[in-house]
Amino acid sequence: MAFYQNNHLKIYNSLSGQKETFTPIHEGKIGMYVCGPTVYNFVHLGNCRTFISFDLIFRYLKHLGYQVRYVRNITDVGHIVDDADDGEDKIAQKARLEQIEPMEVAQKYTVNFHQTLKQFNNLEPSIEPTATGHIIEQLQVIQKIIDNGYGYERNGSVYFDIEMFNKNHDYGVLSGRNIEDMIANTRELDGQSDKRNPLDFALWKKAEPQHIMRWSSPWGDGFPGWHLECTAMSTKYLGNHFDIHGGGMDLKFPHHECEIAQNEASCGNTPVNFWMHANMLTLNGKKMSKSTGNNILPQELFSGENNILSKAYHPAVVRFFILQAHYRSILDFSDEAIQASEKGFQRLMEAVNNVENIPVSDTSTFNVQEWKQKCYDAMNDDFNSPILIAHLFDAVKNINAIQEGKETITENDKQLLTATLNAFVFDVLGLFKEERVSYDDSKLEDVVNLLINMRNEARANKDFAQSDFIRNQLAAIGIELKDGKEGTTFSL
Ligand code: AMP
Ligand code: ZN
Repeated sequence: MAFYQNNHLKIYNSLSGQKETFTPIHEGKIGMYVCGPTVYNFVHLGNCRTFISFDLIFRYLKHLGYQVRYVRNITDVGHIVDDADDGEDKIAQKARLEQIEPMEVAQKYTVNFHQTLKQFNNLEPSIEPTATGHIIEQLQVIQKIIDNGYGYERNGSVYFDIEMFNKNHDYGVLSGRNIEDMIANTRELDGQSDKRNPLDFALWKKAEPQHIMRWSSPWGDGFPGWHLECTAMSTKYLGNHFDIHGGGMDLKFPHHECEIAQNEASCGNTPVNFWMHANMLTLNGKKMSKSTGNNILPQELFSGENNILSKAYHPAVVRFFILQAHYRSILDFSDEAIQASEKGFQRLMEAVNNVENIPVSDTSTFNVQEWKQKCYDAMNDDFNSPILIAHLFDAVKNINAIQEGKETITENDKQLLTATLNAFVFDVLGLFKEERVSYDDSKLEDVVNLLINMRNEARANKDFAQSDFIRNQLAAIGIELKDGKEGTTFSL
């Protein structure tokens, strides 16, 4: 029996506004699409939060034994400044300002995106398609939408006809918006626009002579609208109906609402069973954002070079800080909050390092089976990482108590505890040891063990001044020695 059959996963579906039992369309296999970054600037920590949230989800689905095809795109054309239909393309604007090719802009920030996610230990998606690499597929989707009567061409641009679509579909099904209210809140067309209705959105935009990013199409030279790429690429790699579509909360409307409309208008069916939205990372109570400048970059955190930081933070600590909040809750960034996470992270890692050395007994006072089940229950309840982490800290408490002789554990339970703790900490949460990127830990271990041996010798010779000196000097540089029944261990 596959592992996932024992785990009844519930996922909050933005479409229904409820947690629903998750069953994939094809037994044992999951298709998941997540909207990727618009590569016109360095990714900020808010962007990273969304990608770490979906990395947690990807990791847990894989952990349950599903075969997951995870598609995450790169938006390298079509995203207009202010998410509007008229105006300059974000990448083209940056290319103009920096006087480089648009593809140089996309390359530079794609590389930064990959490097940053690697530092956070994110797994790579199965497929990472780019919008510019799928122009033909996007043209095909537009043609189908026109053929089905939901798109129209005006002066070299093609628009999605919302009024026509809404006659036999529900535009607003995901965001819960009502079309009459949307019309009431939209500016009147100013006579310059080619749209029939202000709510209509661009599928294809005519490129003016000065526009540098352009492709030929049946309607003349132009470029695709932003929402179109995700419809074209998700259906190409996952089919017209797939399991999970994710992105940040701010993409729910209009981006994902438009994706649903495009899919229904081109293929005739609703594309996705589960829509998942990750909540925002805020700074000073406001959404982190590239355009407003209210953001902090991961590299600033890793170096400590930002006025709001008192020190540098390791990528694993930052990841832990993010996972301590549920992906659907707002998380506010502050130096104090991440400092608290750092302490918690170190306590957790210390226990992970020590668990293999705890002494065993004939009986267990710690019910490891029950604890393990609680960990799975937390993750099966819409990937509740903060509850999972709370259970991991229960284990930490028990590990420390066992080490101090206040609790006991059998050999079998110890093995189960070690395996489960490692699986959740490393495989599911994707955490890693701080020293991994900073220095060669095997050498450090050798050196500290040498000092531990010297201290033991000093103690055997009753040279307590020397043994205390070694202990205190190590403590001063942040290495703490712990004496237990099985000998001395250390933690950073
Ligand atoms: P963009 O590059 O602007 O298209 O954004 C890439 C991803 O980051 C999208 O899924 C956004 O929803 C997400 N995102 C943007 N700002 C934030 C934020 N402050 N917190 C969390 N996710 C964000
Ligand atoms: Zn998208």
